[in-house]
Amino acid sequence: MKAIRRFTVRAVLPDTLSALEELAGNLRWSWHEPTKELFARISPELWHQVEHDPVALLGSVDPGRLAELAADQGYVDWANHTRDELRAYQHDPRWYQTLGESAPRTIAYFSPEFGIAAALPQYSGGLGILAGDHLKAASDLGVPLVGVGLFYRSGYFSQAITPDGWQQETYPSLDPDGLPLSVLRTPDGTPVEISLALPDGVLHARVWQAAVGRVRLLLLDTDIPENEERLRSVTDRLYGGGGEHRLLQELLLGIGGVRALEAWSELTGAPAAEVFHTNEGHAGFLGLERIANLIGDGLSFDEALQVVRAGTVFTTHTPVPAGIDRFDRPLVERYFSTSLLPGVEVQQVLSLGAEDYPGGSPDVFNMAVMGMRLGQHANGVSKLHGEVSRQMFNGLYPGFDPQEVPIDSVTNGVHAPTWTDPMLRALALDRLGTDDTTHADWANSGAVSDGDLWSVRNRMREQLVQDARQRLQAAWEEQNPGGIAPVWMSDLLDPNVLTIGFARRVPTYKRLTLMLHDPQRLRNILLHAERPVQFVIAGKSHPADDEGKRLIQKLVQFASEPEIRGRMVFLPDYDIGMAQLLYPGTDIWLNNPLRPLEACGTSGMKAALNGALNLSILDGWWNEFYDGENGWAIPSADAAGDGAERDALEAEAMYDLIEHIIAPRFYDRDGDGVPSTWVGQIRHTLSTLSPALSAERMVKEYVERLYIPASRNEERLSADGFAAARGLAAWKGRVRAAWPGVNVAHVDAGGVDAVPQVGDQLHVRALVHLNGLKPEDVQVQVVYGRSQEGDDLVDVRQQRLDLDDGVPGTDDPSVAHEYVGTVTLAWAGSFGYTVRVVPVNDLLLSTAELGLVSVAS
Ligand SMILES: *Cc1c(COP(=O)(O)O)cnc(C)c1O
Repeated sequence: MKAIRRFTVRAVLPDTLSALEELAGNLRWSWHEPTKELFARISPELWHQVEHDPVALLGSVDPGRLAELAADQGYVDWANHTRDELRAYQHDPRWYQTLGESAPRTIAYFSPEFGIAAALPQYSGGLGILAGDHLKAASDLGVPLVGVGLFYRSGYFSQAITPDGWQQETYPSLDPDGLPLSVLRTPDGTPVEISLALPDGVLHARVWQAAVGRVRLLLLDTDIPENEERLRSVTDRLYGGGGEHRLLQELLLGIGGVRALEAWSELTGAPAAEVFHTNEGHAGFLGLERIANLIGDGLSFDEALQVVRAGTVFTTHTPVPAGIDRFDRPLVERYFSTSLLPGVEVQQVLSLGAEDYPGGSPDVFNMAVMGMRLGQHANGVSKLHGEVSRQMFNGLYPGFDPQEVPIDSVTNGVHAPTWTDPMLRALALDRLGTDDTTHADWANSGAVSDGDLWSVRNRMREQLVQDARQRLQAAWEEQNPGGIAPVWMSDLLDPNVLTIGFARRVPTYKRLTLMLHDPQRLRNILLHAERPVQFVIAGKSHPADDEGKRLIQKLVQFASEPEIRGRMVFLPDYDIGMAQLLYPGTDIWLNNPLRPLEACGTSGMKAALNGALNLSILDGWWNEFYDGENGWAIPSADAAGDGAERDALEAEAMYDLIEHIIAPRFYDRDGDGVPSTWVGQIRHTLSTLSPALSAERMVKEYVERLYIPASRNEERLSADGFAAARGLAAWKGRVRAAWPGVNVAHVDAGGVDAVPQVGDQLHVRALVHLNGLKPEDVQVQVVYGRSQEGDDLVDVRQQRLDLDDGVPGTDDPSVAHEYVGTVTLAWAGSFGYTVRVVPVNDLLLSTAELGLVSVAS
């Protein structure tokens, strides 16, 4: 029989154990080993069964056991001490508190997914895990961040694999009462309700709060009786439906999210958010809600837009078109033709997401394009991805070279306390005096010998092998109810064999099955008599992606061949819990995307933090960090004729590396059985990569390079009744209107001989029409560099030209102004230059910001 309703009855803890409830209610436990140990002590077996979930543990532990612990003074003291430590952690000043008054008082961080702990499955992959790591590192650094997201009743989905290798999805319904969440309520106990006026009815949502250390996370949930049935399912699943369902989720996340945030600050007295960071474009509507609020304060749309842009940070995460939300324009039009956003015209909304550039589609509303227009601060997530993004969004800045597109990059990082195995942390604490593995002195071989390091690596591999066996047996038993898993399943993999890990979502560009390119060669590698290799693989395919499911099937079928199955396993239902054992347990972390489609990739970072060596295409973070010693680079066959040839070349290169370099080095042992060259590489990886890959480094960069400048900009524009915002909007309007008549009418140059030499001075003179703009509205620049075939300039530099006072000032738009300046020929070889006019205003952050330029022709 199936229940029609389910709820969770929370345990009543004995008074002396009340600290446990407080500790379970703050997700800090998920990265705080001492707190986990405290819970594990209650019942190690149950702790394992509930997959390290304190709320579930307290809900299912035998009351007799609790009574026993309540009478155990040692345990009670331990619990109270741990709780006091958590309280101190939440209030003591940390890094951010050293920054002084000018740092923003609240930063809102919007994301469609948050991967914090396996116990709160509200993520699908890297984007969500990154958001979780961002919150945790912000908490550790004392950054006053508030997360805003949605609460999905079924999270993403649970994955099972049928005997013939096909992915099956199930959507177990989560009970928020069984999770570390509480409803946001007014002082009289009424739940706060957020509502959105939709074309045919009002959408209501309640707000769940989660405590992530010092940081609060607000999650909106539409599954409440106040909603009509069809609207209750808006937050049913993550990335579940298409078109309209997705649009509803994003309206709720962006617009509802800002409303929830306001309700939250009013109730808690927390300062209002001064910076809004949107993790990918999905939350972009937040900017529109803020504009509507400012219109309510008396600003025009354009004036409000200046304020909102100044305080918004937009992080783009993917160069893959499928990763970018594009809605049918009429659908968006329908939703904004209502009273959803008072004071905002539907045409104003539509123009923000319009692909009004060559190659764009007129029928589409593009969330990433809106993200760029609503956020003055934009960034990609690795240096290479920054470059790729500048090219990708170049169409919004016609006439500018990609280098000038205003998109910066902050390379992702990972939260070390979450992702570093406790065994490695214990080694660091014991021998190097700190459990902060990102700052431990791993080079100190006197304190940590090769043998010590190798022994921990062996234990982590062993732990993974055990976990993989258990998971596969459990999965088999689920597929064969009542049966008992065959004995060979308890013997899969080998704790002493070189272990290669590969786990990630399964979109085509990540090439899950590249390793199968030459099955016979792979077989030989796996089954090598002296130097065997084993693979542990995992990953979920999006439910609508049958192509991805076929890749999984191909792999599972290969791995089920009797001679292969002991050396290659596919673990179903990749999640944070599995990942935490997988990264530490692998010797080599493999990543073979199609360059440059992996924006950053973070799984390899998590592996590196545990001393695994990376074997990867030079894409994302690896392109920036590979140094020849911390792992291996699979060369990209960029010059290949087609995709198949490229796959073939890259797969061959990968096999060669594994077979001829990696395996021999792994099995090259000294008298104590330690592979000393390999361990040297581990030591090098731990000491050089860990600090750079940590989420602390990342969050500090966001604070210093984006959040602080954004809050300052917004403050400048808002001061004195938004005087600067009004001025800037008027100025932009004037410049845009005049721009079609701005041009460089004539350029001449002299000063160099027939045979120019390095050091010669080139005197440039240009006649420029400003069409009524004032000289201070623009800058006239000579742009020069090495010239190439097709006259494209490289190594481009600019130098401003000065208005030559010889021409009297005039309002007559037909009169040309004369500009002069000098460029020194600083290098030998080809040299080219041109002259351009660009708008300038000290409230702009970049020359290209308005997308206006007039180049001499
Ligand atoms: C880190 C992580 C990811 C992201 O890995 P990528 O290498 O960025 O694809 C996905 N899922 C889980 C569970 C993770 O821990």
